[in-house]
Amino acid sequence: MHMLQGKTAIVTGSTSGIGLGIAESFAAQGVNILFNGFGDKAEIDKLVGGIAQKYKIKAAYSAADMSKPSEIKAMVLGAEKDFGSVDILVNNAGIQFTAPVEEFPEEKWDAILAINLSSSFHAIKAAIPGMKARKYGRIINIASAHGLVASPNKSAYVAAKHGLMGLTKSVALEVATHNITVNAICPGWVHTPLVQKQIDDRAAKEGISRDQAQKDLLAEKEPSHRFTQASDIGAIALFLCSDAASNITATHISADGGWTAQ
Ligand code: NAD
Repeated sequence: MHMLQGKTAIVTGSTSGIGLGIAESFAAQGVNILFNGFGDKAEIDKLVGGIAQKYKIKAAYSAADMSKPSEIKAMVLGAEKDFGSVDILVNNAGIQFTAPVEEFPEEKWDAILAINLSSSFHAIKAAIPGMKARKYGRIINIASAHGLVASPNKSAYVAAKHGLMGLTKSVALEVATHNITVNAICPGWVHTPLVQKQIDDRAAKEGISRDQAQKDLLAEKEPSHRFTQASDIGAIALFLCSDAASNITATHISADGGWTAQ
């Protein structure tokens, strides 16, 4: 992994959950990181500064809103200027909202499509010219088991994640001869704030404890009955940037405890 030392990664949505796990995995290998995501500015500064110091890397933070194309473009071009290159792009920012389709609020549909799908298009579009010029790029899109199969009440999320799988494959074909790989990671359940909300909603709706709701959520989808860790997703992202993975492109790696084999 020492070949990644000194490279630069943008990880969108890295102030929490899976994105933070991925950012820290890269930082531990000497990769400079541009963090992005929402949260308390003082806490984010502490987080970014702490990781920079711990792993002796250069780290910065962009508050770009992944629902705003102009902010996404500015984030990528700004990182190229400040760090000298964007070698790795991890499109991870995402949100969730669940409701039957006939009750699904239009603004939630638009927000999920913008943040979970279109943001990846805008970031990729801005990052590819530099990657082509430097003849190196690793693009990793954090899709989901829901990029491969569906669940009820998640029409926007499932549509966006299936779309992200298509984007992954299409762009990968376009850049295949440029030493740029484009892949997706498809996690099942990872215990993050995004999933905790679904556990809490389930507990409230069914009048059961959070502990029981968590067990039921896992048992319903994951044959392994356990969560994947954010650090595991980080390790998979690192693998996709390793020499061994240099000819892996236009595909995905699932980490879903068997969910999508059923
Ligand atoms: P999370 O809520 O812990 O983190 C989401 C991150 O995205 C945060 O940093 C948040 O600030 C950021 N974000 C949200 N809206 C944004 C916006 N408009 N602009 C910039 N940043 C924004 O969630 P997570 O579970 O870590 O999810 C990360 C990704 O992994 C998402 O794409 C999600 O769909 C995907 N995923 C999660 C799971 C899971 O079980 N947790 C499973 C499969 C896929």
